Amino acid sequence: MTQTAVPVTENIREVVQTVVEVLRAPKAEEDSPLVAANSFEAEALRTEILRVGRKLWDRQFVDGNGGNISVRLGSKYVLCTPTMLSKGDLEPADICLSDLEGNILAGDRSRTSELLLHLEIYKANSKARAVLHCHPPYATAFAITGTVPPNGLIPEYEIFVGPAAVSPYETPGTQAFAETVLPFVQDHNTILLANHGVVCWSDTVTHAEWLAEIIDNYCKTYVIALQIGKPLTFIPDDKIQEILALKQRLGFPDARLPKDASGPVVKDTAEMERLVEQVVARLEGRD
Ligand SMILES: [Zn+2]
Repeated sequence: MTQTAVPVTENIREVVQTVVEVLRAPKAEEDSPLVAANSFEAEALRTEILRVGRKLWDRQFVDGNGGNISVRLGSKYVLCTPTMLSKGDLEPADICLSDLEGNILAGDRSRTSELLLHLEIYKANSKARAVLHCHPPYATAFAITGTVPPNGLIPEYEIFVGPAAVSPYETPGTQAFAETVLPFVQDHNTILLANHGVVCWSDTVTHAEWLAEIIDNYCKTYVIALQIGKPLTFIPDDKIQEILALKQRLGFPDARLPKDASGPVVKDTAEMERLVEQVVARLEGRD
C-alpha cells in the first residue's frame, strides 16, 4: 500500500496559517469596543487612513465627500471613514469603529453608507484586511462604459491587478449594491463598479490605494496609446505565464490562475527559507 506524501511546503503553510490565526484570534481587550478603539493598533490604522485619504484627494480620485476607506481591527471590528466629509479633510476623531454588521460602536460621526460594500468583501474573502472605494477618472470612464481595459500591455498592471471585473449597477449605499461584487471578490482585488467607480481590497489600506493608482494609471496610458494611432504591442504569452507564476508565489488573486492555486507555490529550498524568514519577520514586526 502506498502512502501519499504531504509536501513539506504544505506543512509549513499549515503551521504559519495556525500562527496567523492565533495572532488574529480575539484578544481579551477586543471584547471592549472602547479599549479596541483606543489601542495603539487603532491609532496607527487611523493615521494610515488619514494619510491615504489625503493621497486620494491629492490625486483627484475623490470628489466632494466621495470615496471611503476601511480596515479590519482584530477579528471583530472595522475602522472606517465617516459620511459627508472630504477624504482630504479627515481628522483622527472622525474615524468610526464598527462591528462586522455595520453597527457604530465608537466615534461621533455617522459611518459611510458604503460600509455595507466593505463588510461584504471582508465576510467573503478573509485575505481582505483593508477596502478602499474611490472615483478615479480614467478607471471610472471604463466603468461607465461597462468595459475593462485589455490585459497584457504593462507588467505592473498584470502583477498587481490582472484582469479587472465590472460589477453590475445598483443604487449606491444599499445592501443590493454591496452584494454586486460578491461574484468577483475571490479572483479580483480590483473591481470596476458600473456607472460609479472602483473598489479595491488588499492586506493594508496603503496597498489597497496602490491598486487604485495602478488601474487608473493603466487606463490612462491605454487611452493615450490609442490616440497615437499605432497598433498596440502585447506582452508575449510565455512572458504572461511568467508573471502568473510570480503572482501565484506572491499569493495575489488572478482570474487566470487555476482555481486550486489558493496559495504560494515554493519551488526550491532557498526560496522556501526566504519566505519563512519573511513571514517570521512580519509576525515579529521587523519588516
Ligand atoms: Zn462612490
